[in-house]
Amino acid sequence: MDQRITKTEDEWRRELTPAQYRVLRQAGTEPPFAGEYFDCHDDGMYRCAACGAELFRSDTKFDSGTGWPSFTEAAGSAVELHKDLSHGMLRTEVRCRACGSHLGHVFNDGPRPTGKRFCINSCALDLDRTPAAAPAPTGAEGGAA
Ligand code: FE
Repeated sequence: MDQRITKTEDEWRRELTPAQYRVLRQAGTEPPFAGEYFDCHDDGMYRCAACGAELFRSDTKFDSGTGWPSFTEAAGSAVELHKDLSHGMLRTEVRCRACGSHLGHVFNDGPRPTGKRFCINSCALDLDRTPAAAPAPTGAEGGAA
C-alpha cells in the first residue's frame, strides 16, 4: 500500500477534472460549502480521487462547520503529513501516501478522541458507498462504535 504511484503531470491533467487537478496536483483549495461532501453523511470509505487509495472512513467524519469535509483521523497510514509554510501560515499539509496528491490540511482543534481536524477538499475525495467499503456496522440498536 505504500508503493508510490508516479504519473507525469500530463497524465494527471488528462485523468482529473480541472478543479481536481488544481487541488490534488497544485495544492489548491476549493471554495467552502461548495464541494460534494462537506454535508454528506453517507456511510462508506472516502478514497483518493487521484489514485483510489482508502483515505478516510465515514465514521470518522464530523460536522466542523468549515464547509469542508472534516475527519478526526485518517484510515491506517493512508496519508502523510508535510510542513506547509505557504500563504504566510504554518500549517500541516495532508497528502495521499500512495500517490503524493494534496488532500488538505490537518489542525489540532478537532473533537475527541483524537483532537485532530483533517480538513479535506471534497474534490480530492471519492466516496465509495459499496457495503464492503463501509465501516463495520455499529448495529441498528447502537452497538460499539
Ligand atoms: Fe492518491
